[in-house]
Amino acid sequence: MDSSQNLKIAKQQNKDSCYLCHSTNLRVKFPSTQGGQLTDSNSYCCTSFGHNNHKDIIECLNCGLIALKDIPDRFELEQMYKQVHDPLYVEEKKNRYFTFNRVMKDIRKYTDSGKLLDVGCYCGYFLDVAQEKGFDVQGVELSEWASSQARQLGHVVHNDTLSNLDLESHFDIITMWDVIEHFSNPSDELREINRLLKRGGYFFLSTINAGSLVARLMGPRWPWLMDMHIFYFNKDTITKILKEQGFSVVHIQNYTHYISSKYLIKKLTHISRLGALAPKALQGIIGEFSIPFNLGDNMMVVAKKL
Ligand SMILES: [Zn+2]
Repeated sequence: MDSSQNLKIAKQQNKDSCYLCHSTNLRVKFPSTQGGQLTDSNSYCCTSFGHNNHKDIIECLNCGLIALKDIPDRFELEQMYKQVHDPLYVEEKKNRYFTFNRVMKDIRKYTDSGKLLDVGCYCGYFLDVAQEKGFDVQGVELSEWASSQARQLGHVVHNDTLSNLDLESHFDIITMWDVIEHFSNPSDELREINRLLKRGGYFFLSTINAGSLVARLMGPRWPWLMDMHIFYFNKDTITKILKEQGFSVVHIQNYTHYISSKYLIKKLTHISRLGALAPKALQGIIGEFSIPFNLGDNMMVVAKKL
């Protein structure tokens, strides 16, 4: 057994130590709100409204990693994600394209052609944008519904987990938008991504930033504290986990989502619990338009395979 296999087993077995650095110097940072258990696949939609419902969230006082105390079983999580249906995401299609076109501008500062794999490609909108810019694209997606949406756009989509797929290690670029925080064992997934990349290939990912000013100021009210988010990285912890799996972090910057005013109102009323009637009333007053939404609490990481 090699050392990486040893590490993998230690990480999965020991719940009383930090997933990343194995320190036992942990504290409960955000006690359980016990608002509700995630029992069905609707809670795992990209557009889920399960904000502020979570079990105990712990912080490692050694390395700063924040994570759910009880990490859900990988197999059960995968079954949930396979069943996800998310029509609201399709309603926001136009804004997803705005978001991905903006991201593409940043990607092309580093690389502008080659074989690209989007992990967690969902409905394939990023694949569309990347293909249009000349990349040779494929996607990986667990949700059967989202995979079929992406295939309807003409894309090759592998409907399984990375570890179950027998993909060749020939990708120049791998992307993964707002996915890493959902994995029960992100080190395993990163190791697989590293294997699939060519040496010198780029890996771009986005995730919520628990070290951002907004996250720190809002504390327990930060809306991204929710059961479907298992790991909350900051710049240091995302750098450490990437480095452990053979990447060098080149750059970290803010990641901007475009959203519609309608979607923002829905999110805000859920977060502030204003009730179901408020969205329609507010919508009538302000109309519908696209908003670049960036509170500095979502980061894009550019990494390279060593
Ligand atoms: Zn730690």
